[in-house]
Amino acid sequence: MSGEVLPSILKVISNRIRRNTILLLNGEKRTYVELLVSCGLDIDRHCGWFDYHLGVLLDEGVVTKKEDRYSLTDYGKGIARLLDTIEEESHRLFQKEVTSMKKELIDFHNCLDSNQDRPTFQTADILVKRLDKYGFDMSTIMPNPLETLTKIEEPNNLILEAMKNYPKRFIGFCCVNPLFKDKAAKEITRCLNLGFKGIGEITLDMYQASADFTTIHKALITLIGNIKNSDVPIQFHVGDTSYSRPKEIEKIISELPEKTIIMGHMGGWKHLLDDVISVAERHENVYLDTAWAFLDRKTIDPDKDDPATFTPSPDSHLLVQKAISELGPERIIFGSDSFNDEEMQRELNKIEALNLTAKERKLIMGENLARILKLH
Ligand SMILES: [Zn+2]
Repeated sequence: MSGEVLPSILKVISNRIRRNTILLLNGEKRTYVELLVSCGLDIDRHCGWFDYHLGVLLDEGVVTKKEDRYSLTDYGKGIARLLDTIEEESHRLFQKEVTSMKKELIDFHNCLDSNQDRPTFQTADILVKRLDKYGFDMSTIMPNPLETLTKIEEPNNLILEAMKNYPKRFIGFCCVNPLFKDKAAKEITRCLNLGFKGIGEITLDMYQASADFTTIHKALITLIGNIKNSDVPIQFHVGDTSYSRPKEIEKIISELPEKTIIMGHMGGWKHLLDDVISVAERHENVYLDTAWAFLDRKTIDPDKDDPATFTPSPDSHLLVQKAISELGPERIIFGSDSFNDEEMQRELNKIEALNLTAKERKLIMGENLARILKLH
């Protein structure tokens, strides 16, 4: 190694923000704001600080900028490989990790909710503790859809704050009421520029009181058409309530052939699985998440019972198995939608009962999602 290169490398990797930026750009192009937020910095307070570190990376020829996106130069890619080696070696030599960017086990479906009066109350700290306990590297987080009925920025800001506090653990999805029209498009664009990776959980049955299905359908398609940087997955809540049944969701999916769609809960109810599978067969851009699948109409009345008491049937894994057999493991994504350890354990038991091969398990427990979200 020449006398000039080593001091340059040491200068570049001597700072956490610079190391983090290199690892974030490893195999990916990102905008200034995405990088800043992913480094756990605050856009209002830390721009100058971040500009300095990004300037060092540009001056040293580690990073290059094209239009509004940054990427690694060949020299930068070499430093990224060096950082990976340091990480592996440090673990071997000192039994301790220098940086952790693991993306193997990902829980797709979790919501944060700041309302302590609801059973769905969940902070970022509570969720991270559970992810640690069950060995998850990361989780997707979304606002409680109920919160987005009347509020625009606030529910997404709760997710943004969690993304800043735990940049290596959380992948943010943003959600908005499509009936807010231009304001809704502006909000989704704002979130995607801030590093959110998807849109969801779109819960159409919440709008039954405000609009007929045709109106909400049109509003949603217009909204998605109006969003800039909209090449991100969209997740729908699917269940046994009007506007959220698979056949209604398919009317929307049919108009979005270019988008990656995730049908939440695999339809949720046993009697809806065949419909969900046939939607996924007709549209190859459709994936299914496993959270809370499957409720059983024989034991729960969807119209009468309190949803808080819904508990998936103990033989749910047989239906998940059916979806895997018919669609392939590449289309199935693990999600827990959990609010406590008991729910997480139940969702994991369902996966355990499937007797998956190592490859199928890897796909369902993280690889499919990492591929869709371009995390690697
Ligand atoms: Zn849902």
